[in-house]
Amino acid sequence: MAFETILGHEHVKQLLEAALRTRRVPHAYLFVGARGVGKHATALAMGQALLCEERGSLGCGRCDACRRCARGAHPDFHVVAPDGQQIKIEQIRILQDRLGLRAFCGGAKVAVLDEADRLGTEAAAAFLKTLEEPPEATHFILVCQNLAALPLTVVSRCQVVRFGTLAAEHVAQLLRQRRQFDAATARLVAGLSAGCPGQALAVDIERLRDLRRLAVAFLRLGLDGGALPCFEFSEQLTRGRAREEVLEFVDLLALVARDLLLLCGSRERSAGEPESALRRFLLNADAAAELGEIAARLRNEQVEAILAGILAASHAIRRNVHAQLTLDLLLTAGADLQALAEYCHACRR
Ligand SMILES: [Zn+2]
Repeated sequence: MAFETILGHEHVKQLLEAALRTRRVPHAYLFVGARGVGKHATALAMGQALLCEERGSLGCGRCDACRRCARGAHPDFHVVAPDGQQIKIEQIRILQDRLGLRAFCGGAKVAVLDEADRLGTEAAAAFLKTLEEPPEATHFILVCQNLAALPLTVVSRCQVVRFGTLAAEHVAQLLRQRRQFDAATARLVAGLSAGCPGQALAVDIERLRDLRRLAVAFLRLGLDGGALPCFEFSEQLTRGRAREEVLEFVDLLALVARDLLLLCGSRERSAGEPESALRRFLLNADAAAELGEIAARLRNEQVEAILAGILAASHAIRRNVHAQLTLDLLLTAGADLQALAEYCHACRR
């Protein structure tokens, strides 16, 4: 029951449900996957199923325990998340004290460690002791993005469950249902979310549209050229923005370039194709007219080179190359095939 609300991840749900049905639930799971992909929601569902009063149930949703879990108010369900940058040793000590008590409701106890890859060194050592000698009828669910950041001694005591990303259509469908987005907006947000529904659902659509306006302006400026306006633009773009946000801009830029490619490609292949047919495939359908103007100035191979340049910029910024400088150089390369090829080469060095 509790698992019905989890989108996708069929193999994970099957694995957990089989463990519950056969009552062979390992005392510690480690859920690994991208941010917003559904690990936390699955951990909550698993916790509910473990605490449900209806024996053999997967979380009936009706009993007192299930209702408490749904409200986040079950006394035997503990969730620990980083306090600031890390999960601190004091938090682990409090958890250990609570788990040392008898279960309030007489059943199992569940502890979820969110962002377990941010366990501090001391906290990890203390937590390891609990994992080695777990209190009776206690289940741990550790949730993390980066398995390599966890001590091997912790990982080796857990059953690792990997969460893949969801197909973009799946995420788009969810956005249409839960946020009432129109088809094009749902496709755009799904495209940006990299298959993580949690990220997609949390999107601030106005902010995203502002960022998209900037992306279109960026491409125009790249075509019109002029070093000084380019430098001013990328300076403004990166000033006060965290690297994550600049990367989000670059990802959005790539989706806009993808639409340009579609517009150029279709123009070169079938000049007679009605525009409405094409619009269905555009991620930025609401900016189709503006993108059409830009596409009209470009040949297919130029857009391909621009897209390659954008992906190279993303790669460089992810590797901590100076974001403003990276965007400066991309802008000044414009739509020049030679300059873009050199740019890509430099970015990947
Ligand atoms: Zn129940």
